[in-house]
Amino acid sequence: MLASSLRRSDAVLFDTHCHLDTDKFDTDRDAVFERAYAAGVMRFLNPAYDLESSRRAAALSVARTDLVSAVGVHPNSAAEWGAEVRAALRQIALDALGRVVAIGEIGLDYHWNVAEPAKQKVVFIEQLALAAELDLPVIIHCREAYDDTLDILEVEWRDRPLVLHSFAGDLQQMQRALDCGFHIGISGPVTYPNAAGTRAVARAVPADRLVIETDSPYLSPQKYRGKRNEPAFVRLVALKIAEVREEMLSDLALYTTRNAMELFRLG
Ligand SMILES: [Zn+2]
Repeated sequence: MLASSLRRSDAVLFDTHCHLDTDKFDTDRDAVFERAYAAGVMRFLNPAYDLESSRRAAALSVARTDLVSAVGVHPNSAAEWGAEVRAALRQIALDALGRVVAIGEIGLDYHWNVAEPAKQKVVFIEQLALAAELDLPVIIHCREAYDDTLDILEVEWRDRPLVLHSFAGDLQQMQRALDCGFHIGISGPVTYPNAAGTRAVARAVPADRLVIETDSPYLSPQKYRGKRNEPAFVRLVALKIAEVREEMLSDLALYTTRNAMELFRLG
């Protein structure tokens, strides 16, 4: 059976990376959730990128039963990091225990290099320590910095729960991540005509390490490129991955949702 011919009711999908707290969704957030449900997307993880978005993400996850959150400082926001922000993130996570389920998105971004790489590394490593202290999984943002990111993780986070979100590394970097026990998150770029490398990764990831995501409002799949992304479109990500893996959408939905539930300890 062709993946695309499957009924919608077959697939319960988990968008493991969507920034639904941001003002891009302020005018139609309820409708965004309704469209997600109609597409079989029933669960959501809302990561953060600075202190303010951490507060918003945590609040949204407390208000909703179908959405959990992460708190953390993105490498592009590294300048705000310090003892006070660390203490604030820790308190947000403790106040919303069970709803804040991870630290993220944190990591290294050498594309924008908003902060010096040395500063980014300090902020990254200190947040790994916070995740260890709170015993929370980690969501990694990495752009053009895979080798440095993996060098750090192999020392600091081997065999602990972690996803490399919107993975854009090569097969060798993927293997390094798998050898540490990490998960690989695949998003909209897998649908882009020039993304053969991402499709090769999507084909090669073991079924028990793959999770799917949109990174809404960013990284819209090819069909909606240039427009705002939203969780309903994780179905298009799943369809493309099912196609390249020659699997049924229902199977892919089943194990990627199960992987996410286990990774973020959602019972
Ligand atoms: Zn993100």
